[in-house]
Amino acid sequence: MKNLAILGSTGSIGSSALEIVAAHSDRFRVTALTGNHNLDLLADQVRRFSPLRVAVPDEERAARLKERLKDTGTEILFGIAGLVACASHDEADMVISAIVGSAGLIPTLAAIEAGKDVALANKETLVAAGPLIMERVRRRNVHLLPVDSEHSAIFQSLQGHRKGDVRRLILTASGGPFREMPLDRMREVTPAAALVHPNWHMGKKITIDSATMMNKGLEVIEARWLFDLPAEKIDVHIHPQSVVHSMVEYIDGAVIAQMGIPDMKTPIAYALCCPERIPLDLPPLDLCAMGKLTFLEVDPRRFPCLGLAYEALRRGGTAPAVLNAANEVAVECFLRGEITFMDIPTIIRLTLERHEAVPIQKLEAVLEADRWGRETAAMISSTAKVEGL
Ligand code: NDP
Repeated sequence: MKNLAILGSTGSIGSSALEIVAAHSDRFRVTALTGNHNLDLLADQVRRFSPLRVAVPDEERAARLKERLKDTGTEILFGIAGLVACASHDEADMVISAIVGSAGLIPTLAAIEAGKDVALANKETLVAAGPLIMERVRRRNVHLLPVDSEHSAIFQSLQGHRKGDVRRLILTASGGPFREMPLDRMREVTPAAALVHPNWHMGKKITIDSATMMNKGLEVIEARWLFDLPAEKIDVHIHPQSVVHSMVEYIDGAVIAQMGIPDMKTPIAYALCCPERIPLDLPPLDLCAMGKLTFLEVDPRRFPCLGLAYEALRRGGTAPAVLNAANEVAVECFLRGEITFMDIPTIIRLTLERHEAVPIQKLEAVLEADRWGRETAAMISSTAKVEGL
């Protein structure tokens, strides 16, 4: 029996993880859950999975949850301390880190510090604090297992091979809904249009990140730390069908890919059980029905966010944390209708240009860069709102 703490259980990844738990209740037990706004779903999950603890970031929401769950034995916690308690309590064997954004950083770090294996969906943790996180992973001797489908594919394609034989990693990207839209119409993109992803059903923030391709930029940074390879060895190809989840090219020219239908349950289950595979109730990949697989180069004019992520990685230190913070602010502004779609990369670029990166030996440097990046991006966004960029 594996005891799981699921951070961000009310989200897309958290809900998929709970579907796996429900289908394999002989293997998994839930010891802690966390959510944020969706108290209805969180309360349902508590009744269904009976965790020992549950946490939300806000005290008032915790009080409402406590009232609704007073007939259960589940302890209700709140704030960062509550999230950290859920991530680090003794009963959990593994933590699924599926909070969205840099809000996931402190609880994920707490899980690692507490010696837990972590199934990592929250890529923003590695983007903002990659060197620090990997140093703690080594020091605490825990496993950091990728949930992101691309990183899971690379993780699987590396099994049984020598890292020194890797020539490059090739991350695939669907290209999102605007891959073929005329460039001069990209400014008119609405939040509603950007929230419709052609292949994946995901939370709002990552869906917008997929449309701008910042998601792939964040994944390049995530891959750099997870697989300890320099940015020059990490490429991105557009692959609109999203069935080749990513590839590893070796020095002898062999390319090993992992394929499957686009459903996050496969990489989540692999992170929970690897090297074992467990049966999942998913339709098979029908390659003959699909007919062909397409691969294309990324157009940097259409997707400037990808170049910005490589640039942040090249600058190093706190630059990726600032990139991430600016992106989170810009995406929120876009979703509120305050800025245009193509203002997102502009706000990130202007924020990065004003930042002097410093090394990140301590968590405080990351948190300070995150705070500064948010403040600066919000200021630039408000200018965009009033005057346009
Ligand atoms: P969702 O928006 O669907 O879910 C996010 C979760 O985090 C929810 O449980 C939400 O609570 C909670 N949350 C949001 N803000 C806070 C906060 N400030 N403090 C604590 N909890 C918070 O996101 P996804 O599930 O799509 O993505 C989660 C992570 O996984 C992201 O980092 C994403 O990049 C990554 N990922 C997602 C994939 C996907 O297919 N969805 C694929 C690969 C990676 P509530 O809903 O109750 O407000």
